Amino acid sequence: METGLALTPSYYYWEEHTEETVNDFQGLEWKQYVGDFRVLEPVELPEGVCCGVQYTTFAINPVRYMYYLLERCRELGVVTVRKEASSLEECFGEDVDAVVNCTGMGARTLAGDKKVYPIKGQTVLVRGECRAVKFRKAKSGWQDAVLRRPGEGTILGVSKDEDDWYDMTIREHFTQADGNRSDNVDPDLTEVILERCKELAPELLVNGKFDVIRSQVGRRPARKGGICIEIKRVNVGGRERIICHHYGHGGTG
Ligand SMILES: Cc1cc2nc3c(=O)[nH]c(=O)nc-3n(C[C@H](O)[C@H](O)[C@H](O)COP(=O)(O)OP(=O)(O)OC[C@H]3O[C@@H](n4cnc5c(N)ncnc54)[C@H](O)[C@@H]3O)c2cc1C
Repeated sequence: METGLALTPSYYYWEEHTEETVNDFQGLEWKQYVGDFRVLEPVELPEGVCCGVQYTTFAINPVRYMYYLLERCRELGVVTVRKEASSLEECFGEDVDAVVNCTGMGARTLAGDKKVYPIKGQTVLVRGECRAVKFRKAKSGWQDAVLRRPGEGTILGVSKDEDDWYDMTIREHFTQADGNRSDNVDPDLTEVILERCKELAPELLVNGKFDVIRSQVGRRPARKGGICIEIKRVNVGGRERIICHHYGHGGTG
């Protein structure tokens, strides 16, 4: 089965120095986890960029990768049940010893954690797989991104709107994992994303334009104060059981 993973050359550019880049990129804590990390020479930098790095890492098509992992689990005998839970206690049933709570925005209700909030992001899926994953952090704080989606195309983006609750009063836990939504897409923002990403992925342009499949909106399930990873012992049905919370990943799932 396809994994949806592909090792891909990657570039990160900055238009001005940040905490990440000063002191020889010491603030880039992820640099130890990627392959072939190197700082780009000034002659290798695009116009308007003050510094950049190159590395090799995995590009992930999250939907395919999730299905691949699910299939692997099923092959190993894992039984899956799909249903909406109204409480974590309800997930135990008679014979379950531990529940791992990875419900993203759902933790607001299931764990009563009001520090959890959504960060809206709009992206554009285009045809063709880019040769390299690229990020460009602009002086304005905006970040252009060209992300290979193995087996499907390339994602361009990406916007960040903190605390955007549109649609969430109806289903508080609606998140990216439920599938990207095409409603609530801002068409002007799509045009901005397409224009800004041209320089980063010229190999995908057909007659100077990207071949757009769709624009989409998702919500990053963030948490004020950072990720919550916590083990709690609870009494359910007259005996001690375990809840392991694991949510609040925001934009780095
Ligand atoms: C536009 C955009 C771009 C992104 N780009 C990247 C990227 O490049 N790299 C990266 O690492 N991350 C990226 N992310 C972030 C990543 O998608 C999230 O961090 C990740 O999905 C968080 O995973 P999670 O399992 O914690 O939560 P989720 O993926 O939100 O999953 C939570 C699940 O719990 C379910 N659930 C909630 N409540 C209940 C309930 N009561 N009963 C049953 N089920 C429930 C939900 O339906 C959902 O399926 C991006 C996100 C967005 C929106």
